[in-house]
Amino acid sequence: MSAADHCLFCRIVSGAIPAKKLFEDDIAVAFADINPQAPTHVLVVPRKHIATLDDLTEDDSLLIGQTLVRASQIARSLELSSEGYRTVINNGEAAGQTVFHIHIHLLGGRNFSWPPG
Ligand code: AMP
Ligand code: ZN
Repeated sequence: MSAADHCLFCRIVSGAIPAKKLFEDDIAVAFADINPQAPTHVLVVPRKHIATLDDLTEDDSLLIGQTLVRASQIARSLELSSEGYRTVINNGEAAGQTVFHIHIHLLGGRNFSWPPG
């Protein structure tokens, strides 16, 4: 079985599992987090399956940069930019990563309470 078969976010990227998608192109897909921790909580994921930041190689530099640029464009389109927003990447279990396909949390709205601490 490939990652695309068993990874939740690969299955959302491919459309096998439904999600509230806000954006997609050949680089990345963005969709609403199913358990939002802020008034706006969007996940921006590269189409390519990369489990954690530890799995990145030099060859992924452009892809990761483009994914971050997508996150900033989505923030702008959701009109979060003027007020400010937070981006978070949890890496590894101890940091709260539960889905092992790299994703940028995009959190907007006032009174951030997540991530804790
Ligand atoms: P993390 O804990 O950093 O790995 O983030 C995983 C995120 O995925 C959590 O915020 C979950 O709420 C979110 N999530 C889990 N399943 C789904 C789903 N089916 N659709 C959208 N978001 C999801
Ligand atoms: Zn995946």
